[in-house]
Amino acid sequence: MNTQASPVITDMKVIPVAGNDSMLLNIGGAHGALFTRNIVVLTDNAGHTGVGEAPGGEVIYQTLDAARELKKRFPDARITVDPNGAWLLDEAIALCKGMGYVLTYAEDPCGAEQGYSGREVMAEFRRATGLPVATNMIATNWREMNHAIMLNAVDIPLADPHFWTLSGAVRVAQMCDEWGLTWGCHSNNHFDISLAMFTHVAAAAPGKPTAIDTHWIWQEGEQRLTNFPLQIVNGKIAVPDAPGLGVELDWEQVQKAHEVYKSLPGGSRNDATAMQYLVPGWKFDRKRPAFGRN
Ligand SMILES: [Mg+2]
Repeated sequence: MNTQASPVITDMKVIPVAGNDSMLLNIGGAHGALFTRNIVVLTDNAGHTGVGEAPGGEVIYQTLDAARELKKRFPDARITVDPNGAWLLDEAIALCKGMGYVLTYAEDPCGAEQGYSGREVMAEFRRATGLPVATNMIATNWREMNHAIMLNAVDIPLADPHFWTLSGAVRVAQMCDEWGLTWGCHSNNHFDISLAMFTHVAAAAPGKPTAIDTHWIWQEGEQRLTNFPLQIVNGKIAVPDAPGLGVELDWEQVQKAHEVYKSLPGGSRNDATAMQYLVPGWKFDRKRPAFGRN
């Protein structure tokens, strides 16, 4: 008899939840008051329980003057921009060329245009500016990664475990380490279960990854679903010793967040609502800035 048999999943609960968000301004406008996530609770035949968290959508536009000022004031700060592919190639080159002393990297500065794929256009941007390029848009699975690598389109794949899986994200990190790329991780609004996922994946990534991204800080750590959310101390998180992700669900908090989710019309987040409060009739347009439209 095989005593090392794989565990058998005996129960699965999927609970949609929502939490308060900050009014973060980006090209998509401002974040709505609430963000949504799904949490998954699995139980196996040995009685072990595991939890996971998965997402919801996004976008940014920003002038680079603010970045220059920030760099003057905080010369050691690592400053990056993420237009989510919104700029045209010519525009992205004009904005970013010569900005190597300000920007640590440019994340998805441009995307598909005029019949060229996002990977081809990003490769052109990279050659024209000499800036390192990061992405969570053009290399999100192995097939896309293959083309991105062949085109030299990316320096920093942001391999988010939500779409790469935890082991897949670590395999991307191994590839980066072997091939002279830099691994990093994309993040969206999330709860503390995802924070634990990022922490474990980052700890397992070999080499010298770029700093791990999180939106948890914008939520001021208040939107918790676990009893003891992992703490960020001096920019670092200690990897927990407890089994699994090392977090324990707080069912009362989960229930509350589920009730908030049920109060949302259509069960989804709507960032346009926050912007319509500021600009009547406002609609998202990925090629136009959130403000100052004519
Ligand atoms: Mg991004």
